[in-house]
Amino acid sequence: MTPDPYEILGVSKDASQDDIRKAYRKLAHQYHPDKQGGNEAKFKELNAAYQILGNPDKRQQYDRFGAAGFGQGAPGGGGGFGTVSWEDFFRQGGFQGGFGNVGDLGDIFGDLFGFGGSRHGRQQTAGNSYELTLTIDFPEAVFGTSKTIELDAQHACARCDGTGREPGSGLKQCSTCRGAGQVMETRATLLGQFQTALVCPTCQGEGEVPAKRCTTCKGQGRERKLKRLEVAIPAGIADGQTLRLQGQGDAGPRGGRPGDVHILVRVRPDPELRRDGDDIVTRTTVSPADAALGIKVDVRTVDGVVAVKVPAGTQPGRRLRLKGKGVPSLRGRGRGDHLVEVVVKVPEKLSRKQKKLYEDLQDEE
Ligand SMILES: [Zn+2]
Ligand SMILES: [Zn+2]
Repeated sequence: MTPDPYEILGVSKDASQDDIRKAYRKLAHQYHPDKQGGNEAKFKELNAAYQILGNPDKRQQYDRFGAAGFGQGAPGGGGGFGTVSWEDFFRQGGFQGGFGNVGDLGDIFGDLFGFGGSRHGRQQTAGNSYELTLTIDFPEAVFGTSKTIELDAQHACARCDGTGREPGSGLKQCSTCRGAGQVMETRATLLGQFQTALVCPTCQGEGEVPAKRCTTCKGQGRERKLKRLEVAIPAGIADGQTLRLQGQGDAGPRGGRPGDVHILVRVRPDPELRRDGDDIVTRTTVSPADAALGIKVDVRTVDGVVAVKVPAGTQPGRRLRLKGKGVPSLRGRGRGDHLVEVVVKVPEKLSRKQKKLYEDLQDEE
């Protein structure tokens, strides 16, 4: 379970960047391992949380996709959305170098920031990911369905095959980073100056740029157009579950890794059928006499109407089980059951005849 960075910093989801910075400073001061009552683990956690929330872009990604957005990157896929687990952020060498006179802090940060494990560039920026919501009907969720969605997304440029290079032309060294693929940025923090390695914005970490840019996409390697996606929704999906269409988002710039499409599935409630795990629950209302003597009732299930026997002597609230008429299990085989809850409705008004019969019954009991 990935911890919630908001919780770690003790701020609300709508806290301003300023509030976040203040909260971080206060807590970092409190838990600093060099201080009495300091806590190194807590301090690391704070720093990791601040790496996300202190950066408006990363914060937005976290808000949209949660920790999962930070944890699913392929190793070395690098850059952009969803490539670095936020817990791994420090270990990946987000920070490097230059501690000068910070004394003992070196040890802590050595561990924290992955000294010596400097990873160089060659990290391509990934394409953007999208989050969409798709609403389906109850039976569609039970039996599965297929939906077509349209997305205005970046495609790999057809002329240059996504490379950004004019066909037939080669590559040259990037002049911004001189081929290193990354540039260093110096940041001042309360603990001193840090040098941060950033993916070179010119070559996206490639170290090389097209000698001649593709004339269609101007070297971007991609073009925006409408994309049709066929979404297979598995039988048994529940309201609120998310499907991930890997690589169906924007093409990455210059042949980089494509983004994903996340589809949040909402299921329209059915007026009668209610879901409880893989079971479906409905109610049937019978009279006290029916409950006492037994009766056959028609029950609407996802497989159609089924005649169900309410046995003699059925108590109010009893659930009758129709095996295998529930929701197919998303994992593995089989289906849940359909449960019919028996509601016994006592008449509020009685005809004269009914009253007499109830009185006779009362005398019997
Ligand atoms: Zn092109
Ligand atoms: Zn460069």
